[in-house]
Amino acid sequence: MKIHPKLRPIREKVEAGQRLSLQDGLVLYEPDVPLNEVGQLANLVRERINGNAAYYNLNTHLNPTNVCVYRCTFCAFRSDLRDPKGYVMNDEQILARGQEAVDNGCTEMHIVGGLHHQRDYQWYLHLVSILHQAFPNLHLKAWTAVEINWFEFLAKKPVRSVIEDLIESGVGSLPGGGAEIFHPEVRDRLCEHKADATHWLEIHRTAHQLGLRTNCTMLYGHIEQPWHRIDHLIRLRELQDQTGGFQTFIPLAFHPENTGLSELKKPSSLLDLRTMAVSRLMLDNIPHIKAYWIMLGLGTAQIALSYGADDLDGTVRHELIYHDAGATTPEMLSVDAIRQLIQEAGRDPIERDTLYRTVIRDTDDPTRWQVGPAIARDEDGRWHASTPQFARALSS
Ligand code: SF4
Repeated sequence: MKIHPKLRPIREKVEAGQRLSLQDGLVLYEPDVPLNEVGQLANLVRERINGNAAYYNLNTHLNPTNVCVYRCTFCAFRSDLRDPKGYVMNDEQILARGQEAVDNGCTEMHIVGGLHHQRDYQWYLHLVSILHQAFPNLHLKAWTAVEINWFEFLAKKPVRSVIEDLIESGVGSLPGGGAEIFHPEVRDRLCEHKADATHWLEIHRTAHQLGLRTNCTMLYGHIEQPWHRIDHLIRLRELQDQTGGFQTFIPLAFHPENTGLSELKKPSSLLDLRTMAVSRLMLDNIPHIKAYWIMLGLGTAQIALSYGADDLDGTVRHELIYHDAGATTPEMLSVDAIRQLIQEAGRDPIERDTLYRTVIRDTDDPTRWQVGPAIARDEDGRWHASTPQFARALSS
C-alpha cells in the first residue's frame, strides 16, 4: 500500500500498538500528509478496538436554563436574565421531559445548561432528584465540569463533596463538555472565567475516583492551532492513564453563527475527518470516539465511522445548544434512521446504554427495554467494550 514518507514511522508505531508522541500528532495535521492515509491508520485502530460495531443510543437533552453568568465567545446558547430569549424550566416542565423520554424508550437524559446566578445549589440537585425519583431507569448524564465548578462556588464545598451530592441526587455519569481547548493561550480568549484545564481535569479525576464514568470533548475549528489540539488530547490521555474513567471522546466542531466569533468560518468536513482520525490515533486508551452527527452533519458523521469513530451519539430530542449556533441537522433522528445511517456506512449498528452495555428491546413494545450484557471481547479477541478493565486489557 502506498504511504506518505512522513507517515511511515507513524504507521509502524500504530501497527506495533505503540503510543504516538506530540510530534507524531503534529505530523498527522500537516497539510501535505494525505487525509485518506491518516484515516486508514485511524480505521486500523478503530477496528482493532471496536471491530465493525457502531454504537448509538436513544437519548434526550434537557437544558433547564440558558441564563448564564459567563460569556464564552463561542456560545450562541446563553442568555442574559432579562433577555426575551432567557428561560428557566419549572419542575412540571422538567418532569414532562422525563415522561416524554420514557414514553419514547429513551435510556438516557443528557442534562447541561447555563450557570444561573439566581438559582441556588439546591435547585440544581433538586431537578436531578425529581427526575431520578420519577424515572429511576432513565440514566441521568448530568452537568459538565464547568457547572460542577460553579456548584463548588455556590455550595462553598470541595469538588469531592459536590460530586458525592450529585451521585446521591441521581447523577449516573458526567458529560464531557466545557473542555473546549485546554491551553491557556486559547482558553483565556474563549472563556477566561471558566474552570481552567487543571481544574477541569481534577473534577473528572475526582468523578472517576468516586466511581463515575465520564466523557471528554474538544471544541476545534476556531482560533486554535493544530498543536493546541494535540496538547489537549495528550492531557486527556495522561488523565486516562491514571484513572481509566473516560468512556468516549467527542471532537466538537465549532459552529460560528450567533456567537462572538461569527466572523470565522465553520470547520470544513476535511478538518472534521482529520480531527476524528487524529483523535483516534492519539487517544489510544479511550475506548470510544464519537461522531456527533448534530454538529458534523449526517454525511460527514457517516464517513467518520471509517475515520476512527465508532459511535454516532443518539437519536437525540430537544437539542438547543448547536442549533442556536446554526446547526442545520435535524433536531432528532428515528431509530430506523440512525440504524440506516450506520448500515449505509458499512457498520453494524448496536444500541448501547450510557455505560456501553447492550440494550435489549421488548419486541412487542420497543419503548420497553432492559440492560443486556456489557459489550465485551468477541471470539476474535477484539474489544467491544468500555468496561473498567478496558485500559488494562489494551496494554496487556
Ligand atoms: S458555554 Fe456554557 S458557560 Fe459558556 S456562556 Fe455558554 S452556557 Fe455559559
